[in-house]
Amino acid sequence: MYALVENNHRDLINNLKRRGIIDDDDVYDTMLQVDRGRYIKESPYVDTPIYISHGVTISSPHMHALSLKRLMNALKPGSRAIDVGSGSGYLTVCMAIRTNVLENKNSFVIGIERVKDLVDFSIENIKKDKPELLNIENFKIIHKNIYQVNEKEQKELGLFDAIHVGASASELPDILINLLAENGKLIIPLEEGRTQVLYEITKKNGKIIKDRLFDVCFVTLKKN
Ligand code: SAH
Repeated sequence: MYALVENNHRDLINNLKRRGIIDDDDVYDTMLQVDRGRYIKESPYVDTPIYISHGVTISSPHMHALSLKRLMNALKPGSRAIDVGSGSGYLTVCMAIRTNVLENKNSFVIGIERVKDLVDFSIENIKKDKPELLNIENFKIIHKNIYQVNEKEQKELGLFDAIHVGASASELPDILINLLAENGKLIIPLEEGRTQVLYEITKKNGKIIKDRLFDVCFVTLKKN
């Protein structure tokens, strides 16, 4: 039996390691550097999603860990990464730490979020945790619905080695396929009847390979 409630961030991450959820040193090192207590006030060190506002939750630490693990091969210093539905900003900052955006100018990390209040919320969180990220050109959180990214904006965004989607879609959005670089990885929950399944999508020689991972429970990726 393991406690699911911890009192500080290090204990939370060590708990995930003991439970075998974090079995990758890079995921461990990355998550240890991003204190969940700076991204949600209420019970931050409990391994559960927590309500923020606007019908939205910060995902559970185990979900952040499992998604990051799947992205690790594509998420390295120098990689370009996008967090779709960045919400609290927690995972976007994990991407920034892992790619070392502060020192590696080839790295580029962007969070895209549909709700303006949540963009502001994430920026306040980042101010508390890693304010230096807010002063560099290669880290951004923008207010935008992913379905409303037009061709010009798509070109400006460029291609991404790692794409994380923190909300569940009825089908794989074309825009995400277009944004995915060759050998890039996309992690997205997709609806299947009444359940949702996490998929790992890879682009290889221009072809899309879909790996069905496991059942999950996310909020909806809103069309408008
Ligand atoms: N990884 C985030 C998850 C937040 S929940 C975290 O742990 O904090 C999912 C987020 O997706 C919500 O903030 C929601 O507002 C956002 N979202 C939903 N539909 C969207 C869309 N079409 N485009 C961009 N963001 C969207």
